[in-house]
Amino acid sequence: MIIPKSIKEIVILTGAGISAESGIRTFRDQNGLWENHDIMEVASPGGFERNPEVVYEFYNLRRKQLLSVEVSPNLGHISLSRLQDLFKGRVSLVTQNVDDLHERSGFKNILHMHGELLQMRCVKSGKVFSTKEPFDERTNCPCCLQAGNLRPNIVWFGERPFHMKEIEDLLSSCDLFISIGTSGEVYPAAMFVNLAKENSHCVTIEVNKEVTQVSHNFDYLISGKASEELPKLIDKILNL
Ligand code: NAD
Repeated sequence: MIIPKSIKEIVILTGAGISAESGIRTFRDQNGLWENHDIMEVASPGGFERNPEVVYEFYNLRRKQLLSVEVSPNLGHISLSRLQDLFKGRVSLVTQNVDDLHERSGFKNILHMHGELLQMRCVKSGKVFSTKEPFDERTNCPCCLQAGNLRPNIVWFGERPFHMKEIEDLLSSCDLFISIGTSGEVYPAAMFVNLAKENSHCVTIEVNKEVTQVSHNFDYLISGKASEELPKLIDKILNL
């Protein structure tokens, strides 16, 4: 693997795979089910309209699991924070994950393109509130003081991901793009490697325990678990 010494702008994309070793299950490991639920039932506006109780309960349980003592950042998350702290240039992180494990490992200014489990949003005002507590259609909204207006601040299938302009700008100027633990089946994240490669000098690396739908688009593939492969890769970048 050849990474030029001159790199200054690194963009990292993470997916559910980086959190798998922290005890949060991915989609693909369960044949398209997310914690035993059909994804479209718990992660689409139609599913929420049809069955709001199931959707509230699903995210309340995911939040409770995330905050349980069993879940904490692993060496993959910790290595990325180390890179941000010690690299001479800029390191930006775009995550599809809705957990807060990158924050807990110390990474700063994360772009959560699919939202966050520890947030709820008022559908009337669009205001976002932090929460560690369960909420549902009976919970009064902090801004409009009415029940029935709060939803998880999660981007569901068919909705536009957050921060897209900022992400596209970062990709267009990066010289190293690293994609970690993502299946390449969810768009637009799956095409970020193509956007990064529009800069002819950008080096692209995929870290995954399996070959993905988009592996062929990367310059280098690192096959293995994020918690084992990232510490080695980050040392290599910091020693360039
Ligand atoms: P995905 O479930 O589609 O794919 C996970 C990928 O991670 C697979 O390619 C798998 O081979 C790889 N993987 C699994 N364990 C790994 C490990 N230890 N090291 C390296 N790679 C590993 O996940 P996705 O591509 O992120 O897309 C699914 C969507 O699911 C995301 O948009 C996200 O919002 C949502 N999701 C999030 C979480 C979370 O926040 N932790 C968990 C489940 C699903």
